Amino acid sequence: MELEKPAAKPIKILVIVAHPDDIEFGVGGSVAAWTAAGHEVTYVIVTDGSAGSNAKDVDLGALVRQRELEQLEAAGIVGVHDVRFLGYKDGELQPDIELRRDLTRIIREVQPYRVVIMDPTAVMISMESSDYINHPDHRAVGEASLYAIFPSAETRPIFPELLDEGLEPHHVQEVYIVLTDKPNLAVDISAVWDRKIKALLAHRSQVGAEVADMVRRWDERTGKEVGVALGESFRVMRFIRTEDVGESGAEDVQAVADPS
Ligand SMILES: [Zn+2]
Repeated sequence: MELEKPAAKPIKILVIVAHPDDIEFGVGGSVAAWTAAGHEVTYVIVTDGSAGSNAKDVDLGALVRQRELEQLEAAGIVGVHDVRFLGYKDGELQPDIELRRDLTRIIREVQPYRVVIMDPTAVMISMESSDYINHPDHRAVGEASLYAIFPSAETRPIFPELLDEGLEPHHVQEVYIVLTDKPNLAVDISAVWDRKIKALLAHRSQVGAEVADMVRRWDERTGKEVGVALGESFRVMRFIRTEDVGESGAEDVQAVADPS
């Protein structure tokens, strides 16, 4: 696993996840580091979070609104002020063409250099003491996001209705995949870890102070692999076209995707 090198200039970053709080567990520290470095970050929360309580007779409408407010507070703590809620039903997400179109629309509108997505291939994930069955919404949003990035966002004949909305094709250069069992890159979050935890604890309907110790153990383990105190890990794919290399100054190109 490599340690992330700072980007040469400010970039736009789009983070797409299934649920309110998904970002804060695995990406929040990296987002805090990126916004501190001058990068502009947008969040997309695809489901409404309405499965976030198993209590009987819970007011689901109130829960959805509370989780939106928690997510907005968490975003603000790490310097993110653009948060999009798509309102799909929590727990029943499918990687269908409607979801892919909605995500393609946002990618073309925001025009990110980097998109952070969930891993569509991770069915079971090894955690420190046990295995974790990955939530099907995570895999569904990961698959729809991956195929929105390629081929949908950059291919003119796909979703012609988006052209009618004035949204031209956009080529994404990097994909960071979170909650993966194949990480190849870590972001140093040592200097911003307190803000990561503050953002995570903003999800008061979901977590209590006890999660801080667990998340610290994860982040210490990742940090140790790359020689820093605390880190978050990703599987990174780069699709930098040869004509983009001079402009971005990216000499560490790992892959050049053929758009055909
Ligand atoms: Zn989740």
